[in-house]
Amino acid sequence: MYFGGDYNPEQWPEQVWHDDVVRMREAGVNLVTVGVFSWALLEPREGCHEFGWLDRVLDLLDANGIGVDLATATASPPPWFSAAHPDSLPVDAGGHVLWPGSRQAYCPSSPSYRAAAVRLARALAERYRDHPALRMWHVGNEYGCHVARCYCDVSAAAFRDWLRDRYDLPRLNEAWGTRFWSQEYFSFEEVLPPRRTPAVPNPAQALDFFRFSSAELLACYLAELEVLREVSPGVPVTTNFMAGLHWDIDYWEWAPHVDVVSTDHYLRAHDPEAHIDLAFAADITRGLAGGAPWLLMEHSTGAVNWQPRNIPKTPGQMRRNSLAHVARGSDGALFFQWRASRAGAEKYHSALLPHAGVDSRVWREVCELGADLRRLEEVEGARVGADVAIVFDWQSVWAQEQPGHPSVDMTVRDELATWHRALWKLGVTVDFLPAHGDFSSYPLLLLPSLYVLGETDRAALDFYVEGGGTLVVGAYSGVVDENDAVWTGGYPGALRDLLGVRMEEFVPLGEGRTVTLSDGSTGGVWRELGRTTTAEVIASYTDDGFRLAGSGSEGSVIGGSGGGFPSGDVPPGGGHDPWARHLAGAPAITRNEHGSGAAWYVSTRLDDASLRRLLARIAAETGIATPAPGLELVRRSHPDGSTYLFAINHDDKKDVALAESGTDLLTTKDFPGTVPAGGIAVIRQRPEAG
Ligand SMILES: [Zn+2]
Repeated sequence: MYFGGDYNPEQWPEQVWHDDVVRMREAGVNLVTVGVFSWALLEPREGCHEFGWLDRVLDLLDANGIGVDLATATASPPPWFSAAHPDSLPVDAGGHVLWPGSRQAYCPSSPSYRAAAVRLARALAERYRDHPALRMWHVGNEYGCHVARCYCDVSAAAFRDWLRDRYDLPRLNEAWGTRFWSQEYFSFEEVLPPRRTPAVPNPAQALDFFRFSSAELLACYLAELEVLREVSPGVPVTTNFMAGLHWDIDYWEWAPHVDVVSTDHYLRAHDPEAHIDLAFAADITRGLAGGAPWLLMEHSTGAVNWQPRNIPKTPGQMRRNSLAHVARGSDGALFFQWRASRAGAEKYHSALLPHAGVDSRVWREVCELGADLRRLEEVEGARVGADVAIVFDWQSVWAQEQPGHPSVDMTVRDELATWHRALWKLGVTVDFLPAHGDFSSYPLLLLPSLYVLGETDRAALDFYVEGGGTLVVGAYSGVVDENDAVWTGGYPGALRDLLGVRMEEFVPLGEGRTVTLSDGSTGGVWRELGRTTTAEVIASYTDDGFRLAGSGSEGSVIGGSGGGFPSGDVPPGGGHDPWARHLAGAPAITRNEHGSGAAWYVSTRLDDASLRRLLARIAAETGIATPAPGLELVRRSHPDGSTYLFAINHDDKKDVALAESGTDLLTTKDFPGTVPAGGIAVIRQRPEAG
């Protein structure tokens, strides 16, 4: 169980380093990430390396038994580099250069950046490959966090090369639908990144540019990986993802190239259900690891510094956050950063060792967490089990977030988070899978929002249901192919036959408006007008509802003359939607028997309670329990059957009883028992003898 965080000794005089290692030992720190932003000190002039200070840091850490996740230091080129290679600076869609003076000021396609990064990675690998403190290599940092896409001329040329590898000119024109708005290309040289345009840019071009940009950053990572594999074989390599937080990188493409899947997660301080968002990110990360253990590379002991109001974690919240990540598969808990900075942009970001020093609540909680993680040593390597999986991909996020869709309120991210939250509240652990994943071990598969769906993935879903699986599909899934071109003949084109429905029109709701379904459920955001072909109607639209959420009165009808209500506005007291009576009786939730399985369709966004009710019903039908326990319950198991039940009580006012048997590794108390308000138990459950 790793415990520690980013260690930036270069920010401090050398005598502080000696205090650092004493305190690290006191807290039980066993892994620190060194050198993430050290390029300027390691290479103060082009090609001249100064490793003396890093030698002393690594030797000191090793002498104190602290392992090192050693960065290749390429996340942020120093000012001399940008001055010498001005064409390496990134450019935004509007043509503005992003200058040095913060971090990550490089164009991912820049040959000079890539050459310099590889040179530095090689120098570090040659010097430290046999250092006893070295545990793993850490390439870059949060790739794409600030510059996910560069629109400069260098990137434009690289984009054209990427396109040439995939298309000839007629195929490019076909894939991008360039007959629309007179965009036909007669030479690759005419093709540009989707720079700022007078009107909506070509969405298929934008989708390909997002794919290209993720691949360009991956190429930066792979170039360094190749050097590390060559010079330092056998040492694991990672780079810290930002799963569930940043959506610009296709991590399904990246994950096979890291030895350790690691991620960073930061809470949204204003969100009362931030712990569910944490679970969402952790579950996605476990998906990237193929269900294997992974590593929480960064989170925070308290406040961050980049939200409008940076509220610290309450006492006990850091412990719950850390152990919630461990519950969902992380073999440790690391933080940004070891010692709070005195200077720089992140000086108000919390740390393991705060500005106040060791006489502080934060430090005492850090030491307690270190002790907790030592008590959980035997959990290391255990895997999380789940019977339900959510299928998603990044290209659907990218395609659906382009302008020009039926409703701005309908986003992949919201759908994914909403469905995951419903299952969290039902007490059901969920895995995340790519559309090309292996569904065979899951009795229940959810597609909350998979807007882009190609023929191969469509066929795999069909095969899954045919073979007895239960599939639940959310609205606006399977609508377009890989080129963002609509499957025609009735929505959702790719899934129409599997779902046994044929929808003709999308009919979004006004902002804040709701619709009542015949089974009493409440929908919002989205409706569809259509009919079933082979499916059974579970619930249909009624002409009730359509009120402003929270409004009790009927209000007046928005009639044909009501052009005075732009999107989001409603007349005083709410009012009926003119579409209400035309949709009444149309199918909203359907179920289609297909082969030995069943495929459900939900053509609106159900509110939380309604979605929970529906998913509980479907889970029951597939034999999956939905205990809704009032605790966060997650199990990790070893192959020998030893199981650890993590029980986290997020209510800091109420104790919760738990009927499970076993021994709590954190307190050595036996269960059945009580998980105290705001507390955690990790209950060891041995397999039955014989
Ligand atoms: Zn560029």
